[in-house]
Amino acid sequence: MNPYYTNEKEAFRQKVRLFAEKEIKPLAQELDANETFSVELSQKMGREGLYGIDIPEEYGGLGMDTISYIIAVEEIARVDGSQAATMAAHNSLGVAPIYNFGTEEQKKSLLPDLLNGNKLWAFGLTETNAGSDARGVDTKATKMLDGWSIKGRKRYITNGSNELMDGITVLAQTGEKDGKSTYSTFLVKRDTSGFSTQRTLGKMMWRASDTAEINMDNCLVADADILGTENKGLGQMLKTLDSGRLSIAAMGLGLAQGAFEMALTYAKEREQFGKPISNFQSIQFKLADMDLKIELARNLLYKACWLKDNNQPFGKEAAMAKLYCSDVAAEVSDEGVQIFAGAGLFKNQDIERFYRDHRILRIGEGTTEILKLVISRGLGL
Ligand SMILES: Cc1cc2nc3c(=O)[nH]c(=O)nc-3n(C[C@H](O)[C@H](O)[C@H](O)COP(=O)(O)OP(=O)(O)OC[C@H]3O[C@@H](n4cnc5c(N)ncnc54)[C@H](O)[C@@H]3O)c2cc1C
Repeated sequence: MNPYYTNEKEAFRQKVRLFAEKEIKPLAQELDANETFSVELSQKMGREGLYGIDIPEEYGGLGMDTISYIIAVEEIARVDGSQAATMAAHNSLGVAPIYNFGTEEQKKSLLPDLLNGNKLWAFGLTETNAGSDARGVDTKATKMLDGWSIKGRKRYITNGSNELMDGITVLAQTGEKDGKSTYSTFLVKRDTSGFSTQRTLGKMMWRASDTAEINMDNCLVADADILGTENKGLGQMLKTLDSGRLSIAAMGLGLAQGAFEMALTYAKEREQFGKPISNFQSIQFKLADMDLKIELARNLLYKACWLKDNNQPFGKEAAMAKLYCSDVAAEVSDEGVQIFAGAGLFKNQDIERFYRDHRILRIGEGTTEILKLVISRGLGL
C-alpha cells in the first residue's frame, strides 16, 4: 500500500477539510480585509486537535506522524493562508522546539496549554541584522548571579502579539568560545518584566495572521529557561527550520490545490463565445499543467515527510519540497487569476487572496536562494 495514502490518513484529511470548510472559509475574506486576527478561530483549531498532531498523547497531542500533520496544514491552507500560518507557526516553530529540545520539566509545564488551544507560543530568530543569516543576531543574554538577562529586538514574529500568545523561544548570543560567538535559545514568557510586543500591520499577505515586533529590555529569565542545553541554540534553530520548511511547503501545496479547484469550477461555469471557457484547449492545458504540478509537489513533500518519519536525513528533501511547493503555489495561483481574468482581480473572489498569500512562501523559513544553498550542500558542494 502507498504509505502516503492510508485509509486512516484520508479519514483525517476529510475531518480537517470539513472543519476548514465550515469554520474558516466563511470568515476568511472578511478577516483578511480587516486584518483581524481571530482568537476564536485559533482556539477552535486547538480544540479540534490541530495543535500537536505529531506530538505524543502523553503531552496532549494526537500522536500521529509527520505526513498527517502536513495533510492538516495542507487542508487549512486550501481554504485560507492566514489560519494555516497561525496553525503551522504554532506547531512547527512554537511547539516543536519545546518538544524536541526541551527538558522534561519544560515539556510538562508548557505543552498541555499549547496543545489544547488555550495559548500560543512564538519563535524568534529574525532581527534587523539577522534574516537569512542566523548568526547575525544581536540579541544578547548576559549571565547574572541568578539566571540570564536578555536584551534585544525581534521582528516579523508570527503569533507574537495576540492575546493567546504566552511566550516565545528566542535565539540570543551568550558569549564567545574559540573566537566564535556562542548562542543559546531561551523560553521567555510574555509576563516577564521588560517584555513588550507590538503587532505589525499592513502586510500584503496573511493579513489575518499575527505578525509582531518583540522588544526585550533586560528580561530576567532563570537558568531553567534555557531550552534544553546551553550553547546549542544555533543548531536547535536550524533543525527547527528544516522541519518548519515541510509546513511551509504544505501551505504552498494547499494554496495551489485551493486555487486549482476554484479555477476548475469557474472555467466550467464562465461562458464566452457561446460555450464554457473550459471547452477551449488553452484553458484545458492550463488546468492540466496545474494538476500535474500539484501532483508532483504532493509526492515530493510526502516523501520528505516519510523520510523524517522513518528517521532518515530529510534536510535536503525538505528544502526541495519547500522550494518546489512555493513555486507551484505561485504558478498555480497566477494561472488561476488568468482563468478568472477580470473577475479574479477583485477582493470578492478568494483567488485574489490566494494570489497575494502565495508571495510569502518563497521567503519565510529560508528564501528560495537559501534553499538552493541547502540543496547544493546536500549534494556535497
Ligand atoms: C509574515 C512573516 C512571518 C514571519 N515569521 C517569522 C517567525 O515567526 N519567526 C522568525 O524568526 N522569523 C519570521 N519571519 C522572518 C523570515 O523567516 C525572514 O523574512 C526570511 O528568513 C528572510 O530574511 P529577510 O527578510 O531578512 O531577508 P534577507 O536575508 O535580507 O534576504 C534578502 C535577499 O537576499 C538573498 N540572500 C541573503 N543571503 C544570501 C546568500 N547567502 N546567498 C544568496 N542570496 C542571499 C535572499 O534570498 C533575499 O532574496 C517572518 C517573515 C514574514 C514576512
